[in-house]
Amino acid sequence: MLPLIAQVALDVPIPRLFDYVAPTLTLADVGRRVCVPFGRKEFVGVVLALSRESAHPREQLKAVTAVLDDAPLLSAEILKLLHFCSDYYHYPLGATVLAALPTALRRTPAPPLRTVDSWQLTALGRTAAATLPQRAHAQRALYASMQDGAAYSATALAAASASYRTTLKHWLKLGWATQLSQPAPLNPSPVSADTAPTLNAEQAEAVSQISAVLGRFQPFLLHGVTGSGKTEVYLHLVQTVLAQGGQVLILVPEINLTPQLTGVFRARFPDIEIATLNSGMADSERLQHWLAAVDGRARIVLGTRLAVFAPLPALALIIIDEEHDSSFYQQDGLRYAARDVAIMRAHQRTCPIVLGSATPALETWHNAQSGRYQRLSLTQRAIDAATLPQIRLVDLRTQKPEDGISPALAAAIQRRLDAGQQSLIFINRRGYAPTLICRACGWAAGCPRCSTRLVVHLRERQLRCHHCGYAERVPHACPDCGNIDISPAGLGTQRLEEGLQKRFPAARVLRIDRDSTRRKDSWPAMQQQIRRGEADILVGTQLLAKGHDFPNLTLVGVIGADSALYSPDFRASERLFAQLMQVSGRAGRAQHPGEVLIQTEFVGHPLYLALQHHDYVGYARTLLNERRAAGFPPFIHQAVLRAEAPQIDAAVTFLNQAKAAAPASAAVTLFDPTPATMTRKANVERALLLIQSPNRRALQQFLGVWIETIYTLRTSKLRWHLDVDPLEI
Ligand code: ADP
Ligand code: ZN
Ligand code: ZN
Repeated sequence: MLPLIAQVALDVPIPRLFDYVAPTLTLADVGRRVCVPFGRKEFVGVVLALSRESAHPREQLKAVTAVLDDAPLLSAEILKLLHFCSDYYHYPLGATVLAALPTALRRTPAPPLRTVDSWQLTALGRTAAATLPQRAHAQRALYASMQDGAAYSATALAAASASYRTTLKHWLKLGWATQLSQPAPLNPSPVSADTAPTLNAEQAEAVSQISAVLGRFQPFLLHGVTGSGKTEVYLHLVQTVLAQGGQVLILVPEINLTPQLTGVFRARFPDIEIATLNSGMADSERLQHWLAAVDGRARIVLGTRLAVFAPLPALALIIIDEEHDSSFYQQDGLRYAARDVAIMRAHQRTCPIVLGSATPALETWHNAQSGRYQRLSLTQRAIDAATLPQIRLVDLRTQKPEDGISPALAAAIQRRLDAGQQSLIFINRRGYAPTLICRACGWAAGCPRCSTRLVVHLRERQLRCHHCGYAERVPHACPDCGNIDISPAGLGTQRLEEGLQKRFPAARVLRIDRDSTRRKDSWPAMQQQIRRGEADILVGTQLLAKGHDFPNLTLVGVIGADSALYSPDFRASERLFAQLMQVSGRAGRAQHPGEVLIQTEFVGHPLYLALQHHDYVGYARTLLNERRAAGFPPFIHQAVLRAEAPQIDAAVTFLNQAKAAAPASAAVTLFDPTPATMTRKANVERALLLIQSPNRRALQQFLGVWIETIYTLRTSKLRWHLDVDPLEI
């Protein structure tokens, strides 16, 4: 019989699979990695199907050059999910499949599975060693510690006999001992176990509702105010699933949050292997964790968005913490929303999925309102003494700020300093000032590669572009008019830090932003510093807003929030509300009540009023009504075709051609191509074409037909991609 032909997924920008003759493969090898020749190179690919036939003549097909791994790494189930993603996001199947593999497996040779060895006496060894002569001290010592027949690690044996290696070698040769090799543990250092608190009534109700549907598909929205103990609900659910032998997938928004949450789960389940998956890990490390998830050893898998594709043989529950967070969106390559993929995954797997948030995404809220998701609410803070913080607005029209800080905020900070408590000043802009300007001629420092301003980083004496990484020295004079009186305009974290230090000379001010935490361990070290009470005033960006619990922090000041109110992005208010809720949640988590001061010029704005009343539900209703009236998501479904070229004209021309080639569809609206809000970025110019439809299926059908034509358009010096359910337009 002729050998089978393998259809192989490759990470190439061509939307099809490639056929290779596969002499040694059988139908059971779908999902296996193989090496194949492609062009003049060798590629790692994944076998997606095996058949007797090919559309190409057999003699023209090349052969698979190597078959990797002992068994398929991607299960039929995960391949089905990847098929769905490829269809839904209209991204080539091969590239989609390869995107699901950890980097280390996309090339050869992959680093091997890390193992630990142990040794055990054989039956022969047990009888023979018992008669060793007295003078064979080393051998007898080793025998004494191994005679029960159990397996011992090198560390244990070294303690019994210093020369254990020589002895073992000898025994292995004699057949007295055998060597066992096991996968190395992922979490080798021990932790001290904590005990579960008793759940309050709302938490218990949530746990019971979700536990009741294990084994069935049901999405839940766990809507809990900050500090309401959502994590405790997750922990109890995980407990239940583990007791039934299942695996749990937990997705978290930020790499920064994984160590913290892993710590919480390890303390609760000290004997369970926990795999962590995020892009900040070294490739080889991530591979070890991924393999542990795939072979079922790791019962808890905790990771950022990319973990949504980890194959888990015993998956029984998916949890997404802070489900509204935009970091669940992958913004290049396969552009996907991990939350939506996770819902699909739970559906295919028939297991429940829990979306947790204090400020759910409006899409999610809408689904909960319409009954598609079941809503569970935690309305109280979990710790008895803790109440929600009091939120006050500081009217900047009467409260003139100095170095960004209003008199009211300064007084509130002073009260915390006097009481030995901590304050957090939140500003969502790193650097010293957002731009450098010349007051004589109006020049402002711009990025030569992007249509944006350069940010002043005074400490480093640099102007930097936050979009492309361009940097230059701060000039001494205006390059346009020679005026030497050029100065930073606006406020960033560095300037705020400087101003606060000047105003409160005795206070210890700590800045926390992407610049100050660039080194790998600096952020964990700073967290320790804050917990130990070695900082009085924290100045930080949204890095500080998320998930961190500082018991002595009782004041949050918010600066510069207004700018989001006049953003052209229709999601800006939703995002601002979530961010401010979250950062407010940092105040008063323990015994001391918290206070939040928001500096604004719009004290009557509905967003701030809702925030003052901790009224997510009311504000969500307002925003959803606006979205419905304006025809925005979730009442309409969107896709964006984006093009990038050295010149904007080429990008727009391409989009016009694409538009002209679009199939007719009554249910789908195509807008005119427009330059992107930030037209030039890193020396390429960008344009976009918005497509929308009230009917998701109609939109999908349209895109499926349309993209075939787009692939046939001429695209020299031009890159394009389709973004389905885009986060931003
Ligand atoms: P969230 O994630 O909802 O913001 P957390 O899960 O961080 O809230 O919980 C806030 C605090 O309340 C934590 O210190 C947690 O240990 C504590 N906590 C949660 N549930 C309980 C409970 N049932 N009894 C006592 N303390 C609890
Ligand atoms: Zn000038
Ligand atoms: Zn730039």
